[in-house]
Amino acid sequence: MKYIGAHVSAAGGVENAPINAEKIGASCFALFTKNQRQWQAKPLSETNINEFKANCSALGFGPGQILAHDSYLINLGHPAHAALEKSRLAFVDEMQRCYQLGIAMLNFHPGSTLKKISMDDCLATIAQSINFALQKVPDVIAVIENTAGQGSNVGFAFEQINTIIDRVEDQSRIGVCIDTCHAFAAGYDFVSREGYEKTWDLFDAIIGFEKLKGMHLNDAKKQINSRVDRHESIGKGQLGLTAFQHIMEDKRLDNIPMILETPDNNIWAKEISLLKSLIKP
Ligand SMILES: [Zn+2]
Ligand SMILES: [Zn+2]
Repeated sequence: MKYIGAHVSAAGGVENAPINAEKIGASCFALFTKNQRQWQAKPLSETNINEFKANCSALGFGPGQILAHDSYLINLGHPAHAALEKSRLAFVDEMQRCYQLGIAMLNFHPGSTLKKISMDDCLATIAQSINFALQKVPDVIAVIENTAGQGSNVGFAFEQINTIIDRVEDQSRIGVCIDTCHAFAAGYDFVSREGYEKTWDLFDAIIGFEKLKGMHLNDAKKQINSRVDRHESIGKGQLGLTAFQHIMEDKRLDNIPMILETPDNNIWAKEISLLKSLIKP
């Protein structure tokens, strides 16, 4: 089974996200559980929590079909102590909100060196941040998203992601989300058949398919290895329909949320039908 959806709006309350997902024919969705551009957020109310759970169950979105995304402000590998503490506490709050909502997985961007520390120090700090959060909040799985390697962002190579994973104490609560645009920007091919197979062979050898908890399906505006994070609508970028054909035919990618973060939300319903049409029975 392929779960295909989008990162939908939670404006007016998290309980609206499953409704917005249903409107576009999604079988999974991503959401922010708070404003992604602010540090502070009102705690979730009982109404938010109960209605979110009721809407998800009425519309058929189980825990394996929901992938929360954390705030863009958080840097779990921050080189400065006070800023790192702030990020860690904000991340714990994000995990807590997921736990309250019954969301099983929280997707986050690993972090940035800000050109102040080495890549290795940054990866080690991120792993410590994850261990800190997993100790504070039960159950929720921390899902690392691969980056495009833009600026000083770490986690663009599978080896870097695995360096973080290796240092996480509770291996049952760490996973990976592969963003197709980011992977392509970081030099991983999804277009040629040979490149596609090689990309996943590397993923499996370095990280392992058992750690794959979700995907972000985005076409890429820039060429392979550009290190530039610019999403494009499905089939309109450098990945093209061929890459998504390979993905939709790949049984190893069944039963995980596959989330569109493409720029034109007016065509998400069309993009979902297009992707569904590429699935072979
Ligand atoms: Zn993404
Ligand atoms: Zn991106």
